[in-house]
Amino acid sequence: KVYSVAIDGPAGAGKSTVAKMIAERLNLAYVDTGAMYRAITLKALERGNFSKKGIIKIAEESTIEIINGRIYLDGRDVTEEIRKPSVDEKVSTVASIPQVRKRLVEIQRQMAKNSGVVMDGRDIGTTVLPNAKYKFYLTADIKIRAKRRYEEMLNKGINSDLEKVEQELAQRDKQDMERECSPLKVAEDAVIIDTSHKTPEEVVNEILDYIKR
Ligand code: C5P
Repeated sequence: KVYSVAIDGPAGAGKSTVAKMIAERLNLAYVDTGAMYRAITLKALERGNFSKKGIIKIAEESTIEIINGRIYLDGRDVTEEIRKPSVDEKVSTVASIPQVRKRLVEIQRQMAKNSGVVMDGRDIGTTVLPNAKYKFYLTADIKIRAKRRYEEMLNKGINSDLEKVEQELAQRDKQDMERECSPLKVAEDAVIIDTSHKTPEEVVNEILDYIKR
């Protein structure tokens, strides 16, 4: 039977780590919707066209695919490039454009149509898949989220500044929560999990307990 799991929450709450593990355990496809907004942002940066009109055109013309956990923009693997700091900085602005959201939400719903998915993002439980069988909202203390992101970057060989990382996350959350078109918020029927003092395994087990109930 086809069913989906929606996982929403602010940046650095551990959504993608947990969603990937859940998908594996339940044998469902994993869809990272943030990666899709990032891919459109990357293309706008490359084109040097940051007008609203230009960004909408990019969103409407581009193909975005997720194959074996890799993200393809017009057939090109952009999995690593979409994590660049320049993309972090601009992605919330791109994601605030209603026409961009409309196009990506269409693709996301299509991805969830034929097979069950574990989908992570900001508006999955509220807008993309309001009928998802299971909804979770992951959150954590801003200091802890910043530290996780900082360490993630260190692991990739990027030595950033913890203060700066925290500011960037706070700024992005603010923008994501305050935008008009499907802002980040807790779905009425979502289970809220604070991951501040939990390992990914603990969060995964908590979620699987709900699902198996
Ligand atoms: O999850 P990630 O941090 O990669 O998402 C990057 C950005 O994409 C978010 O800060 C948000 O602006 C946007 N986004 C969104 N809706 C989603 C997923 C991501 O607006 N469903």
